[in-house]
Amino acid sequence: NSFIELHLSRPLLRACEALGYSKPTPIQAACVPLALTGRDICGSAITGSGKTAAFALPTLERLLFRPKSRPAIRVLILTPTRELAVQVHSMIGKLAQFMTDIRCCLVVGGLSTKVQEAALRSLPDIVVATPGRMIDHLRNSMSVHLDELAVLILDEADRLLELGFSAEIHELVKLCPKRRQTMLFSATMTEQIDELIKLSLNKPLRLSA
Ligand code: AMP
Repeated sequence: NSFIELHLSRPLLRACEALGYSKPTPIQAACVPLALTGRDICGSAITGSGKTAAFALPTLERLLFRPKSRPAIRVLILTPTRELAVQVHSMIGKLAQFMTDIRCCLVVGGLSTKVQEAALRSLPDIVVATPGRMIDHLRNSMSVHLDELAVLILDEADRLLELGFSAEIHELVKLCPKRRQTMLFSATMTEQIDELIKLSLNKPLRLSA
């Protein structure tokens, strides 16, 4: 029960060590190896379970092998609130601290649209966003697109729906390539979440922790 058994590369193992993580939490032990196979994942997990690293570690591992000559938005992480987006963005920065040239950009309401637009146009590897603001950018800028997206993550899916983001999420999913990995995390599993899973995930593996 150690991070070494999760088949993560050196820069990620070093980051876990630097953060003082001695062993994976249950959701990390379950999620990381499965996510590394590329399968879609649907996880019941609450805040505090270590779910952010559970989806961020395998996603960063994939990005280690991206074609660096072709910049593109490869990962989109959708969160219900600006506060959660800020936390996820910060966690990714910490987990990616020993990776070179990874760019992660925050796209949320309340920050300058112009600055975010410039950041998006430079095609960062990872975008952490709230759905409304992300849709605005995709609608308004020709050069911002998700055509090369490899991983879509829906964090706190129950709250995304509670806050009324259903239409935005559906629109965003349609703008993603069909061939991608999707991971959805939710504290509760309701009928509405099941519908979202049917719409956006392909034969997902279900995990709970
Ligand atoms: P989360 O559930 O993703 O919001 O994470 C809750 C807290 O647990 C964060 O402060 C993380 O830094 C911390 N954490 C995540 N994974 C581990 C781990 N394997 N060992 C110790 N702390 C962790």
